[in-house]
Amino acid sequence: METLRVEHVVKEFGGLRAINNISLEVREGEILGLIGPNGAGKSTLINCISGVFKPNSGHIWLGRREITGWSPHAVCRAGIARTFQIPRPFPRLTARENVRVASFHRKSDPLEALERVGLHTKADVPARDLTFHERRKLEIARALATRPRFLLLDEVMAGLNPTETAEMVALVRQLREELGLSMLWVEHVMGAIMECADRLVVLHQGAVLAEGTPREIANDPQVIEVYLGERYAFKEDQLAACEEPERGL
Ligand code: ADP
Ligand code: MG
Repeated sequence: METLRVEHVVKEFGGLRAINNISLEVREGEILGLIGPNGAGKSTLINCISGVFKPNSGHIWLGRREITGWSPHAVCRAGIARTFQIPRPFPRLTARENVRVASFHRKSDPLEALERVGLHTKADVPARDLTFHERRKLEIARALATRPRFLLLDEVMAGLNPTETAEMVALVRQLREELGLSMLWVEHVMGAIMECADRLVVLHQGAVLAEGTPREIANDPQVIEVYLGERYAFKEDQLAACEEPERGL
C-alpha cells in the first residue's frame, strides 16, 4: 500500500502564513476531499505537494520516499499529477498536442488520455476553440498522460453547469474505478465532493479544522459555521425522505 503523506507542512509568503502545520494522508485508492473557505490554503497545499512551491518546513512522503522540495517534473515522474484551478493549455496547439507536451517523459498515446475523458473527437481542435468544459477535460487528460497513481484536482467543477458537473462526477468515479487512482480533490461544489469523497479534510486559515466522512463533516457545527453555512442534505436522504410513508393514516 502506498500513501501520500503530508506532515506538519508550513508555507509562508512574506509575512503571511498560508499553510500552518498541515498534516494529512491520502490512502491508496481513496478520494480525499479538501474543502474550506477561499484563502484557506487549499491551492497552496496542492502547489507544495506538486513541487510548484517549496514548503518552509514539514515533510511530504510518497510511500517511503520523501519528495519534499522536489521539482514539479520529479514529483510528476514519481507518480503524482495535478490539474490547475485555472486551465492554461497552449491555445494554438490542438488538444492532442497539448496532451503530448504534458506527457513529455512518458511514452503514452495522447489519444488514449483524450478518450478516457471523452475528448477524442476533438483531438485536432486547437485548445483555444474548446469550450470551458472541454478545457477542463483537457486539463485532466494532460494529467492522465503522465500515468499517475495520485491525482491532485484543484476545483475541476467550478464554472460548470449541472449537466457538465454530473458528467465530471462520473468521470472522477470512473478514474478511480478503472485506473485505481488515488485523489486529493479540492472542491467548492458540495454536491460533487460530498457524494464522491471517502473522507474530507476541512481547511480554515491555513490549518486543518476538521477531518472525517462526508456525513461527519456535514454535521460538524464548526464546519457549518465557518464554511458550509447550513447542513448539507445528502441525495440519498432526500430520496429516503420522499419515500417515507405518511404517518397517521
Ligand atoms: P485557497 O486555494 O484555499 O482559496 P490559496 O492557497 O490560494 O487558498 O491561498 C492561501 C493564502 O495564501 C491566501 O491568503 C493567498 O492570498 C495566499 N497566497 C497564495 N499564493 C500566493 C502567492 N503565490 N504569493 C503570495 N500569497 C499567496
Ligand atoms: Mg484555490
